[in-house]
Order: sequence, then structure tokens, then C-alpha cells
Amino acid sequence: MRVPLGKRVVTGIVVDAAASLEPGALREKIKDISEVVDHAAYLPAPVVDLALWVADYYACGAGDALAAAMPPAQERRTIRVASLTAQGHEPDLELKPKQREVIDALRGAPSGIAVRDLKARGISTDVLQRLAVKGLLVFRRDHLERDPFAGGAARLETNRVPTRTLTGEQSAVLASLREAAGSKSFSVSLLQGVTGSGKTEVYLRLTDTVLQHGRSVLILVPEIALTPAVASSFRDAFGDLVAVQHSGLSDGERYDQWHRIRRGEVSIVVGTRSAVFAPLGNLGLIIVDEEHDTSFKQEETPRYHGRDVAVVRGKREGALVVLGSATPSLESGQNAVNGRYSRLVMNRRVLDRPLASVSVVDMRIEYAAEGPDIVLSGALKIAIAARLGARQQSLILLNRRGLATAVFCRQCGGTLDCPNCSVSLIVHTEGRDLHRARCHYCNYSLTVPKACPACAGPYLERRGFGTERVAAEISTLWPDARVARLDRDTVRRKGAASEILRRMASGDIDVLVGTQMIAKGHDFPRVTLVGVISADVGLGVADFRAAERTFQLLTQVSGRAGRGEMVGEAIVQTLYPNHYSILHACQQDYAAFFADEIAYRRTMRYPPLTALVNLVVKARDPRTALTDANTLAQHLRAKAEAGRFRVLGPAPAPVTKLRGEYRAQLFLKGANRPAMRQAVLAALAAEPDLRRRVVIDIDPVSVL
Ligand code: ADP
Ligand code: ZN
Repeated sequence: MRVPLGKRVVTGIVVDAAASLEPGALREKIKDISEVVDHAAYLPAPVVDLALWVADYYACGAGDALAAAMPPAQERRTIRVASLTAQGHEPDLELKPKQREVIDALRGAPSGIAVRDLKARGISTDVLQRLAVKGLLVFRRDHLERDPFAGGAARLETNRVPTRTLTGEQSAVLASLREAAGSKSFSVSLLQGVTGSGKTEVYLRLTDTVLQHGRSVLILVPEIALTPAVASSFRDAFGDLVAVQHSGLSDGERYDQWHRIRRGEVSIVVGTRSAVFAPLGNLGLIIVDEEHDTSFKQEETPRYHGRDVAVVRGKREGALVVLGSATPSLESGQNAVNGRYSRLVMNRRVLDRPLASVSVVDMRIEYAAEGPDIVLSGALKIAIAARLGARQQSLILLNRRGLATAVFCRQCGGTLDCPNCSVSLIVHTEGRDLHRARCHYCNYSLTVPKACPACAGPYLERRGFGTERVAAEISTLWPDARVARLDRDTVRRKGAASEILRRMASGDIDVLVGTQMIAKGHDFPRVTLVGVISADVGLGVADFRAAERTFQLLTQVSGRAGRGEMVGEAIVQTLYPNHYSILHACQQDYAAFFADEIAYRRTMRYPPLTALVNLVVKARDPRTALTDANTLAQHLRAKAEAGRFRVLGPAPAPVTKLRGEYRAQLFLKGANRPAMRQAVLAALAAEPDLRRRVVIDIDPVSVL
């Protein structure tokens, strides 16, 4: 509805209605609604309630949370359609050739043809107008359903859930899940299945069961552009019953899909994070695939975690929630340990395919023997050459983009840094042989200078390397190899990621080099080698989840090898061959990793053994940022004892300067989230000037 707000009229959502004024409220202070826009609820009541829960839990505005639950602002698109009148159907009309063409085409299309399609066939507006004047055809406006699947695979009307024999583990897991779904009440199952154990197959059959109960199903996936397989499996099995919701769709497509869901025309939704708010009714099952994936956390307001909101939604709507992963997050792993989730395990790959054998290359030894500039170890070179010879495919992971990661002056020792952010610029090839240094945070860039901007020294050296350099190196070593790269630089254009993945699937690529994007749930049967260039890139980061991320990435990427009939191998290059995250990933031993990591989190009092809140204060200069953060810290410390939490900091954030703003941060650690949240809101209420410069992150995933 539209309501007056100050001098403006704005659109709002009704979240509650009171039968009478609160005692003491002044009638003259209450304004009338200007206009009622929708006469039926736009968002279903449970979705409104869920958004309000998000606003409360993540300490953001109700409007921000409700906006996340809304479809993109779009009008329904209408198109102009031409169709014949009765007169137009009469035989023996006297017509010019072009006019005859139109009439013949329309005779074959009883519901008419869109004007733009006629134009595409070379019919001018003029020809159509003349026929209309003669009374032979009429125009009408029609709704256009923007369908993201149009032009893709043919629509399937019947269920086509695969009927092949399940493995023993799949059958056992499915039986437990069917039982849980049959109770039609809330519970959470953690499906811990190694890569290639056939989790998707279990999801499909469980979905079929839940549909038979007359209930609907929501499937959350990390990034559809990178993991199209799950969405297309559902589409293949359930056809038109499936709607998709993700940011790769145009606003129009998302809008139309959203309304199909809202009208109850579909009973399955596959989507990314924000699909957790999909307006599905009668929800029986929520699946969160790759539940450990960090893309489920939104890194802007509202800073919600899609997986956690999914669990809350399941609880409120009495649905079964299935969290699937080969490498569950420490949070979910701990919830399985303490009995809040039930754990279901699949330890073997389908068809008894072995997991890839993993070997570690100690790069300290390689550097000592071959010099500090080498990118590929001897073992990895031999392995790549063997795959090229055998016409098999290789995946090479380096979780860092670019050609060089720093430009360093040999005269003054300075590096080329971003003027807006406290990080060094990364060199990329852009355009023809043009080397640009670019900031990975704010996108500032400059052409790499010939001399040092600080001291004018002519000896600029490039240090460190990223995916671009690895791909170049492989092309130099094997000029005939078809090498491609999958990282944020190569997938800027819409559809570029799926294009690279399609070429990989059809065997048009021999070696695919990429960042963590190549580690997602791809299933390429001809990949028999996975090489990891610097397994430890993530370990140097000032984040308590660094080891967890490294373990997950290495396990997931080695899981990409040997998924077909041929056996897979993984080679991991690292400077820290004895780090527990690397050792356990090489053994693909989740339980051992979990045990070590949870012990570390317990000692350091980090999540999931305690709750964390991160506050970032932004200011124009570093002093103000710290002073303001200190002011907040004082307010918070006054409440710390009563709320049984601790306040850590403030300190400059790891990336101290970001997009021209200086950042100081502080942390709250404790067991009582509501007490911490209230203390934060009270501190900000006491310092209203700071409100707009403080980012509140409840259960932060990234603390940079
Ligand atoms: P995960 O998601 O657990 O890594 P997928 O669901 O991608 O594994 O399954 C891996 C591969 O095994 C897929 O190609 C899938 O079609 C196939 N698959 C799954 N279940 C079976 C089965 N019971 N028999 C044969 N192949 C299967
Ligand atoms: Zn920058």
C-alpha cells in the first residue's frame, strides 16, 4: 500500500494490523493510508514472518529484510499479437504477395502471432496496418511469460525420476530421510556424503516422495551458474513443476518465475540464497546443497545466512531440512555432534569408484632445487603431460587471480598499492598485451608504469602469481594443449561461465585452470588429474576459518578427479605439507579434520563453540574510525558482564582502508546472542551519529 511519510508518499508492506489504537496514542498523529495497491497479500504470511525474524536476528531494518523477500520490481510484460478476423479467414481474398504471406501464416496460428515475430520474418508494420485497415486482422495485447528455460531442453510433462539401482548407502540414507519426511514435522538431517557418492539422486527421490505427500520442496544451491547440474537434474525429472530463482536470470524472468510460485503453479523451487524466501506454500522439504559454501552468506544488508534461515523456515513450517555436503561446516558438524541434527553418511562413491589418490609436493624442496620462480613442480608437469597424451582432462586450481600479485620496486622497496584500499594491486593482461594493475576490492586500475611512482626507480619487479600466469605457463610448455581459465576475470560476461563449463563437458578443453570456481560440484567424467598450485594461499589470511576453508577447498577439488570410469589422481603443491588442514584433506578425512579444528575453536573460543558478532566502524580517517569504535566498545563493555559476553578490540580491520574509507572493528563473543544484539542496538541508540557508519555482522563468515 501507499502511505504518507513526511512530505513523501511511499510504498509499504502491511506486517500487522491492530484493531484499536494503543492506549495513549493520539488519533491526530495517525495518518490514513493513501492507497491500497494489492487486495490480497503480496507475500505469504509465513514469508513476512520469516523476514521479520531475519530483521530481528541479524539486527537490520524490517524493510531491508522484507526487500530481500520481494521479487525484483518489474511490470508484467505485454506483447502485441496479431490474429485473423472472420473476414480474414474468407477464401479468395485479393492480396499482394507480402499480405498473402501474413494471412497464410496466421491461418496456421489460431491464437495469433506476436508482431515482433512477424517482423522478424521480414513483415513490415506497414503491411500489417494495411491488413488491419481492410478488417482482415486485429491486434491485441497479451501477457508474455519470460521463461528462463525457453530454447533449452524440451519441457517434460511426466515425472522422470531415474529408476537405476541405488547403492546400499543411498538406499539406507533415503529410507531414513523418507521416514523423517513422513512425520511431516520439523527435523534437520546432515547428509555427509563424499564427492561422487550420489547425493543428487537421493534429493530427487526424496523430492518425489514429498510431492506425493502433497507438499512442496525448496532446494538451495550455492551458485547456479557454476553448479547448473543440480538445477537441470530437477528440471529433467520434474519438468514444469520446477521454478528457478537466482541472480543469473533477468529481472523479468525472476519476476515471472516468482509469480508462478506465488500463484501455486509450481511445487519445486531451485534457487540461490534469496530463494529461501520463495513464496511456496505447504513446504515439506528444504534441501541446502553444499551447505558449507560461503556464498550462502549475504555480505551486504541484510547479512543473513541462507542455510541458517532455511533451518528456521523449516522449523516454522514443519518441514524436513536436509543439509548436504562432503565437507560440512563446523557449525553443522557440531550440531550433529550435539544431537540437534541427525547425521547420515555416505562414505563411498557410486559404482565403487575409488576416491582420487592424493599426493603432496613439498614446494620448499622444489624451490631449493629449481629456484623460487617455478609454478609447476616436476611431478605435476609429468602428470599433466601424461593426461595430454592420453586425451584426458586436467583441472588446475590456484585460488588467486591475475598474472602477478604485486609490483615491487627494487630501488625503494615500495609496492604498487591501491590509493583507496590498503592492499597491493594485482597485474592482469587486459586487451591486447596491455598489463594493468587492478585492485581486487574496489576495481581501481592503472597501466603498469615503467618506473616506480614513488622514487622513479626503473627496476620494477613482479612478484607472486595467479591463475592467469599458470594458464600462460601451461600454454608455453604445451603449445598444442587447449587451455582455458575459469575465474572472476573470465566470467564477467553473462553466460561466460556456463560456456566454459559446456566446452569442458564436451571435451573441447584439455586443461582448465581456475580459482575455487572449478572446485564446485562439477561432474566431468574425463577429468583424471587435479593439480593444486599453492594449497596454502588461504592459510595466510587473518580469518579464524582459514583452515576450514582450505580443507573444504582441497577436498572438494580433489573430489573432481576420477568421477568417470577412469581412476583419478590429485597432486597438491604446498609450502606447509604438515598443516592439519592439508594433511586431512589429502586423506579426505573429514572426521579427523573436524576433531582437530573443533579443538582449536574450543581453545580460542571461536564459533561454533561461541557466538560471534563483528562490528565494523567506517570513517574518513583512521583516527576517527578507532576513536568511534572505542566509544562503542565502552558502551558494550558496560553491558558485558550482565550479558555474559566479551568485547575484543577495537583494532584496525585486516583491510584497514577499503574504497577510501578507514575501518576499525571489534568483536563480541558470548553464548547469549539476544543479549549481545541488544547491547549493540543500545550502544548505537546512544550514539546515533555512528549508526550509519557501523556495519553489524551477526555470525560473520568473512572478517576481512
Ligand atoms: P555428489 O553430489 O554426491 O558428488 P552426484 O550426485 O553428482 O554426487 O553423483 C555422481 C555421479 O554418479 C552422477 O553422474 C550421477 O548421475 C551418478 N549416480 C548417482 N547415483 C548413481 C547410482 N545409484 N548408480 C549409478 N550412477 C549413479
Ligand atoms: Zn582498491
